[in-house]
Amino acid sequence: MSLRANNYYKAKSLEDAYNKLQENPKNAIIAGGLWMKKTGLSYETLIDLSELGLDKIEEKNGYIHVGAMVSLRDFESSPLIQSLNNGATAFGVREVLGPAFRNSATIGGSVFGRYPFSDVIASLLPLDVKLVFYPKQEMSLEEYLNFRGKMNGILEEIIIKKEEGKGYFKKVKTTALDFPMINFSIVKRNNKNYIAIGSRPLTAALAVKAMALADEGKFQEAADMAAEELQYLDSNNISKEYRQDLVRVYVRRGLEEVNK
Ligand SMILES: Cc1cc2nc3c(=O)[nH]c(=O)nc-3n(C[C@H](O)[C@H](O)[C@H](O)COP(=O)(O)OP(=O)(O)OC[C@H]3O[C@@H](n4cnc5c(N)ncnc54)[C@H](O)[C@@H]3O)c2cc1C
Repeated sequence: MSLRANNYYKAKSLEDAYNKLQENPKNAIIAGGLWMKKTGLSYETLIDLSELGLDKIEEKNGYIHVGAMVSLRDFESSPLIQSLNNGATAFGVREVLGPAFRNSATIGGSVFGRYPFSDVIASLLPLDVKLVFYPKQEMSLEEYLNFRGKMNGILEEIIIKKEEGKGYFKKVKTTALDFPMINFSIVKRNNKNYIAIGSRPLTAALAVKAMALADEGKFQEAADMAAEELQYLDSNNISKEYRQDLVRVYVRRGLEEVNK
């Protein structure tokens, strides 16, 4: 597929980018452009955010601020991100294709797109993550995933609370560079267990009843609950039942790992 557009516009500020976006429903923000290229849609004007300084990762008062234009490669390589959950959050993002691809794909494009298969979203969901949009709007990652309809604003940054934690990430795939058949991201932080399961093939969600059982130390019961409380569907290469079997195994393993 190729990416087709009549114009390419380098925004001078977020306000400028937003105004340009509102001018025509066929205008769009472009980040790495990789998913946009894959979908093969055509656009009137592509709005480039690359000169707006959104490519930084900074720690401020116990929070990690990640600009929307930070590449997946810079994200996974950042010592700040690697310090989270014994490296599991960085590892989850490193599961996306190869380094050359991750040098172009961005955190902003990955989160804004809410792709059901996303290893990036699954990696972030068990953490305390806030999304900041322009014009001024903030919501948690979970709220954004549950938000129905199209978001009108521009994703400016994601803010991750820096907490001590232990993490586990598992992507089940048929070949090394494939999309996930299902992915698991489990984190213990603040003495609580968080279980995110994505690519079911639905967008990642937290298994909240399973999390409560895990907090009581009932790991197999939690894994069984996670297989029931979230929705799983059949897709090309994997059945709903096989997905649920994987949940019973990997959720228990992940919980054992983060509670060692
Ligand atoms: C062949 C292929 C295989 C992939 N495999 C995986 C995989 O196994 N696991 C995985 O997790 N991901 C996978 N991905 C997805 C990839 O990791 C990125 O999430 C995806 O490419 C989007 O990032 P991007 O920077 O390319 O965004 P773009 O393609 O530039 O943008 C994506 C969408 O987000 C919008 N957008 C981008 N940035 C902003 C912003 N700041 N504010 C508002 N809107 C914005 C764009 O308008 C567009 O609608 C794959 C992608 C491809 C093309």
